[in-house]
Amino acid sequence: MRNETVDPYLLTPGPITTSLTTKQAMLHDWGSWDADFNAMTGELCRRLLALANAEDSHVCVPVQGSGSFAVEATLGTLVPRDGKVLVLMNGAYGQRIGKSLSYMGRGYVAIDKGDYAPPSPEEVAEALAADSAISHVALVFCETSSGILNPVAEIAEVVKAAGRSLIIDAMSAFGALPVDAGELEFDALISAANKCIEGVPGFGYALIRRPILEGAEGNAHSLCLDLYDQWRYMERTGQWRFTPPTHVVAAFLQALREHEAEGGVAGRLARYTRNRDRTVAGLRDLGFRTLLEDRWFSPVITTFLSPTHANFDFRSFYDRLKAKGYIIYPGKLTQAESFRIGHIGQLHDVQIDGLLAAVTETLDELQVDLHL
Ligand SMILES: *Cc1c(COP(=O)(O)O)cnc(C)c1O
Repeated sequence: MRNETVDPYLLTPGPITTSLTTKQAMLHDWGSWDADFNAMTGELCRRLLALANAEDSHVCVPVQGSGSFAVEATLGTLVPRDGKVLVLMNGAYGQRIGKSLSYMGRGYVAIDKGDYAPPSPEEVAEALAADSAISHVALVFCETSSGILNPVAEIAEVVKAAGRSLIIDAMSAFGALPVDAGELEFDALISAANKCIEGVPGFGYALIRRPILEGAEGNAHSLCLDLYDQWRYMERTGQWRFTPPTHVVAAFLQALREHEAEGGVAGRLARYTRNRDRTVAGLRDLGFRTLLEDRWFSPVITTFLSPTHANFDFRSFYDRLKAKGYIIYPGKLTQAESFRIGHIGQLHDVQIDGLLAAVTETLDELQVDLHL
């Protein structure tokens, strides 16, 4: 069974396979200034805040672009030009935060754990105690490059105890992993339309603690990425500054309703976890090995080590899986050869069964027997 179209399934961390109804929600045109569209933006923001139990403490600011635009906009808006960020890195997305800060001329120091080791709360506490100039800490919730779930709650406590401001890149986590603003102390949490909420790509958003955003006027170095200005304008007019991705917003609202119908965060977490468990068990049966130990697994994406078998070649493995209707994802590690399989998007038992059958067939075609 295909996803009600002829497209291959995307076993990737976004863009992901969306439902037919989410795609169909885009079959209309909206005026960016029109009350109907403004109501859609309002509903979207209310729903996102409710998902994080953050209606009373935070505001939601969407911004045009991919997820990285939202990360860069949040950093540039909240970190003053003389601020300094402690960036916790264990993969490509933590490194991108550092790169964004360099471009924007904001100071930062990093704790870089390499390809996947998680930052420990103790070393974060030490780094904060040692440098009083650090104003903010930036952390990636699920580091999508390896698939590791970082110890967000423990680090948030340390950051709070040290009186610093926490910015979380929750891009591939929000909507599938529980976030409760009453328990997790964050000043900003960032995600995008095309990850666990299962919308189409085109905008990102940040949930920002209200008084923090109120105090952020004039920080931004970029007009388009000034979330303070975007928020003020939206508050005043109900509209986005500059052309909004109208169709993407419509699809996202539909995706949010489907998220709710599936049982919200708990429902989605259960399905993604099941997808992961079945995929990992199936591939291990075939002789594949995971990069991480099970206790660091996220329900978002899993990294598998490329087999060293002489006949295994990632490119032909990929092409043959694609021909069978399944698109997997290359690895993003600097050390080991690897590939990744995503568990998010409109993937259910049938698709996981289909994927495992396709992998089995492909190994046969390549004459790769990993048990020998
Ligand atoms: C997807 C993702 C991003 C954003 O990537 P874009 O390609 O800009 O959408 C940022 N951080 C994490 C952890 C991600 O998974």
